[in-house]
Amino acid sequence: MKRLFFALWPDTDTRERIYAISRMLPRKCGRLVPINNLHTTLVFLGDIDAHVCQDVQDTTSEIRSPAFSLQLDTIGKWPGAKVIWLAPSSIPEGLASLVTGLNKVASNCGVVIENRPYSSHITLARKAHGPAPYPVFTPFVWKVQGFSLVQSTTLPEGGRYEVIRNWSCGQ
Ligand code: ATP
Ligand code: MG
Repeated sequence: MKRLFFALWPDTDTRERIYAISRMLPRKCGRLVPINNLHTTLVFLGDIDAHVCQDVQDTTSEIRSPAFSLQLDTIGKWPGAKVIWLAPSSIPEGLASLVTGLNKVASNCGVVIENRPYSSHITLARKAHGPAPYPVFTPFVWKVQGFSLVQSTTLPEGGRYEVIRNWSCGQ
């Protein structure tokens, strides 16, 4: 079994820009997500066995998704969740339809998905406490060219992620 999720996986430049914002958070506000772990979850699949994993990949390859851009302009913290995040204030149609398509892939492959409303975000820090710190930063645009299937392994020091397959948008 592999613990899998679909994600937008930032390119190096976008990753550095996001992490520059993480570094502006006050010290001790929580535990920063390491730069190489920064991502936006699209659909969380959970524990998947090898043949379903192959079926998911084959079905995903039938999706045609346009390229889209995310205007990363909002920092927030959910009450109770102890997570500080960066997010776009508006969700482009391309992202909404990609998430819908990936949810259909999951259900067509017999993967049961938790029925949470989708909230696009990049977690910047975990175990955050105190009132939300909102550093002033310059919003920037993340040009999304594709999406990834990622394997998650939980280690004592936190999650480790490994991209196992990429798909392009806009082709
Ligand atoms: P860990 O759980 O090991 O502390 P993690 O939360 O980063 O680390 P996972 O639980 O494997 O690792 O989650 C991978 C990604 O999927 C994360 O972005 C996480 O927020 C998201 N995620 C996890 N569970 C769900 C869920 N039930 N619904 C939606 N997203 C989820
Ligand atoms: Mg988790």
